Amino acid sequence: MNFLKTSKLKSDKRIQAWDFVNSIEGPSILITAGVHGGENTPVEVALKVIECLKKYKIKGNVTIIPIVNPDGYLKGTRLNPVDKKNINASGNVNGKSSSEDTVSDDIANELLKISQKYDYVIDLHSGSINRYLPHVYFCSLEHKELARYFGLNFAIYHRTTNNHIQAGYSHRNNIPIFVRACNTKTTTFGLELGAGHVVYKEDVEIGVRCIFSFLNKVGLLSVNKILRKTSLRQVFEKARDDIMTVIRAPYAGVIHYTKNLGELFHSDEVIAYIIDSATFQRKPIYSPIDGRIVLQRIQSNLSAEEINCAVVARLIPCDNKLT
Ligand SMILES: [Zn+2]
Repeated sequence: MNFLKTSKLKSDKRIQAWDFVNSIEGPSILITAGVHGGENTPVEVALKVIECLKKYKIKGNVTIIPIVNPDGYLKGTRLNPVDKKNINASGNVNGKSSSEDTVSDDIANELLKISQKYDYVIDLHSGSINRYLPHVYFCSLEHKELARYFGLNFAIYHRTTNNHIQAGYSHRNNIPIFVRACNTKTTTFGLELGAGHVVYKEDVEIGVRCIFSFLNKVGLLSVNKILRKTSLRQVFEKARDDIMTVIRAPYAGVIHYTKNLGELFHSDEVIAYIIDSATFQRKPIYSPIDGRIVLQRIQSNLSAEEINCAVVARLIPCDNKLT
């Protein structure tokens, strides 16, 4: 076991990294989880992948960092409680450190730096207090075929162009690390797996299975044991507001979804009712677009001033090319 080199992190909170190396030539892969505390499913997935990999012969090398944000993990907070920053949105675009860097910047910069040594980077997330439809994010259309290797049904194309950067979409702090790390040499993916604080066994199994499917397809496993049919059917694009839309409830209350995670619906269809817990009045919530629910939040998080919401994604026309 190794540790991520961070100068600002206290030694008792060091970030552990497991390396599996074989001298036989093969792909190099970095898997990270726990960038956000409270997203416990990916941490469980990463730990299970470490255990499983011990039983396999590999070609190439794989490094797994199961808890990038140890303080957030212990406290169950999305942000790093040390400096109240989102590690995923910290650091610089190019990973260079600056004199204003805090612990989170330091961690993000180091992750960006080391990610360049790998052929593939897979960053695992989940829905914090919400539940996500398991899906894969990719950053370049050239990687859409590789995205199928995870064997998931859904993918989101996370397009970040120079135009977006100039338009202020990506002040450096709006670009997730895995998107920043993606370039011609390093292919990166983000995975959204299951719920956050609550860990469902089946979500962990889905996560482990789809990672092993990828490891197998890119030739890391020397035994071609795990074969999983890829079935990427739907691709969404996260580049315009009307493609991924957050639908918020007008006030906090008990939410009742009329559609389940992953289901299709039309614009102006009622996707949920919000029930005012004081008056029991029920108000319908409509979807502004045709699409599919990729995230559902059931509970309000009043302390964080967040209210119930759903995120819907729309199919993009280039989807047909994938099937
Ligand atoms: Zn996350």
